[in-house]
Amino acid sequence: MAWDFETDTEYQELLDWADAFVRDEVEPLDLVLGDPYDKADPSFRRLVRPLQRQVRERGLWACHLGPDLGGQGYGQVRLALLNEILGRSRFAPSVFGCQAPDSGNAEIIAHFGTEEQKKRYLAPLLDGEISSSYSMTEPHGGADPTLFTTRAERDGDGWVVNGEKWFSSNARHAAFVIVMAVTDPDVSAYEGMSMFIVPAGTPGLTIVRNVGVGGEREGSHGYLRYEDVRVPADNLLGEEGGAFAIAQTRLGGGRIHHAMRTIAQVRKAFDMMCERAVSRQTRYGPLAKLQMTQEKIADSWIEIEQFRLLVLHTAWLIDKHQDYRKVRKDIAAVKAAMPKVFHDVVQRAMHLHGALGVSGEMPFAKMLLGAQAMGIADGPTEVHKITVARRLLRDYEPVEGLWPSGHLPTRREAARERYAAALEHALGNE
Ligand SMILES: Cc1cc2nc3c(=O)[nH]c(=O)nc-3n(C[C@H](O)[C@H](O)[C@H](O)COP(=O)(O)OP(=O)(O)OC[C@H]3O[C@@H](n4cnc5c(N)ncnc54)[C@H](O)[C@@H]3O)c2cc1C
Repeated sequence: MAWDFETDTEYQELLDWADAFVRDEVEPLDLVLGDPYDKADPSFRRLVRPLQRQVRERGLWACHLGPDLGGQGYGQVRLALLNEILGRSRFAPSVFGCQAPDSGNAEIIAHFGTEEQKKRYLAPLLDGEISSSYSMTEPHGGADPTLFTTRAERDGDGWVVNGEKWFSSNARHAAFVIVMAVTDPDVSAYEGMSMFIVPAGTPGLTIVRNVGVGGEREGSHGYLRYEDVRVPADNLLGEEGGAFAIAQTRLGGGRIHHAMRTIAQVRKAFDMMCERAVSRQTRYGPLAKLQMTQEKIADSWIEIEQFRLLVLHTAWLIDKHQDYRKVRKDIAAVKAAMPKVFHDVVQRAMHLHGALGVSGEMPFAKMLLGAQAMGIADGPTEVHKITVARRLLRDYEPVEGLWPSGHLPTRREAARERYAAALEHALGNE
């Protein structure tokens, strides 16, 4: 019977190495370096490249990919165990070659790209030489892709793209963006949209501004304008009309990878909460002695463990089915659960730190914003809950007649009928 919560010794040793390496060598970089996606930054080259080499030597580079693409082919469960370490640090995913959105972009070029596209865009992306961006959301509505209006029209031997995209993360440092555009407005959106690779610097592609989150005046989320942006036919990614299927492949992996990294963030907040509980004194002793503190700690631990098991089980299902479509409900459930556990644990940790907790001297405010973003990026929570509910309800039939199948008098009557002879016999013998 295969039902096991153990990690094999060999991989556990790698995880232990990654844990110490991230704590000692990578987390400090978060405090001194700028944007992990700015590959041209000389400090990045000086400080990050040597660490990337160590990761390669350990065989932990680009673990989200199969061996044919320079990854390890470890599968999602092992990736989850690694990501729940890497998620602690802003720079760690880049040091380990599995940072979003490049990881998702690499995945779809690997799946759907031509040999030429793989050579030109995928290879340097996998080597960590360049960054990329994914340009899907539009300013007038992102949760529903059927409303997108960015248009790509055939023109001679190429395509011309016009429209606006919103929150194309890291576009400012991207060597190319992958844009989703309507190619046939006369059919359903599910068949009428296509993906294109647009190299940075293509005439007509401009960044209107880099939108920040929270208090950032300038951020990393590109508001992009496409004005007669001409790309050759070879830049079509996958089939014409195939954008929806490609997006699902991309977002399926992206969502679960975010969840894996979120476990790390939530645990980080939990550790800080516990340290505070045993350190901060009140007239009754440390905070840890107070029942309401204990409740916060117990609730947080239980919620983290529940979430982690859901993530790991979903990762296991992806490995088993090797098809995101078969695991859509489970990934949607993970996506819906993620912002709540993230928010609730961080909020408690922040609260136990008092004024210090809400100050800019602790990371909680940023983490809370991160929790909020997790409830929106890759689709809002409501949409994912709808997916979960719809898929679950497929397994149910309406009841015939007035009473539900759990109606006790009806069930009792049926049971009495079924066992009537035996019950009468028992009564006769009394
Ligand atoms: C940090 C971050 C990074 C991002 N990175 C990228 C990126 O790299 N590339 C990219 O293309 N996009 C990116 N996005 C955009 C993201 O995918 C969209 O924000 C998301 O799909 C929601 O779209 P919207 O913001 O237009 O919200 P809207 O569609 O306006 O929705 C707003 C709210 O309305 C409600 N709502 C909407 N639709 C429904 C529904 N069907 N049922 C119930 N309630 C509903 C929800 O409460 C929702 O939060 C990013 C977003 C964030 C926050």
